[in-house]
Amino acid sequence: MTDSTPIDTDSSITPEQKEELTMTTSIEIEASTTTQTKETSNMTTPTEKSETVSIFDLVASNEPTKSLQSISIKEDEQAVIPFTHTVTRIKTHYCEEPEIRGYVECSGSTCILCRSGKKSEDRALFPVYDPIAQTVSVLLMSLAQRPTSLFPQILNALGKADGKRRVLFLKKDKAYAYFVTSRELTETEDDGAAVIKKFMEDTAAGTVSLDGVVQRFTEAQLRAVPAIERRLRLKEVL
Ligand SMILES: [Zn+2]
Repeated sequence: MTDSTPIDTDSSITPEQKEELTMTTSIEIEASTTTQTKETSNMTTPTEKSETVSIFDLVASNEPTKSLQSISIKEDEQAVIPFTHTVTRIKTHYCEEPEIRGYVECSGSTCILCRSGKKSEDRALFPVYDPIAQTVSVLLMSLAQRPTSLFPQILNALGKADGKRRVLFLKKDKAYAYFVTSRELTETEDDGAAVIKKFMEDTAAGTVSLDGVVQRFTEAQLRAVPAIERRLRLKEVL
């Protein structure tokens, strides 16, 4: 909570960073975090357990870093405890195609998802403590400023924190309007300090990455998705 960078599109993102939105821009959360990773140390590899993934994950994930899970806000309340004002800003596309079904990083001027007519959108990756799962997860927030958007309501709740930990309750209704309520944590409540400390150490060591919640594909991999290839064929003279 002592971070000095507020979640604010104006003050947390410098103009220079705005010009680099085709790249993930990690903002001061850790001094030397890059997408390159160090030699694996005590991190477990994701292959040790059974999990359901996109088939592309099997070839596209060349990052041995441990990825955090993203939080999906639905009609059930999701409790989160913010512990930093630092976010990673990233430009994404949402791909509803079943082969992907999730957020994909926009690769900028050469992005075939842009060329296929898919909307790109700036998003903030915001790490928060999930007191139910008792882990650090990532909120993938649109930067939309509508009153019913998540982002301005999160900012409003953070503004009430005044240096104290607050638990936020997030939900979304059927019309995609978000609702955020919050309250201050009591002195005796678990604020995730131990888990958060481990997360901060891991991010500093480069063994955990926030932007792993957004998928990355090569052009060939995206063209292998039939619906995307058909979109491109309609837009391009081959
Ligand atoms: Zn794009």
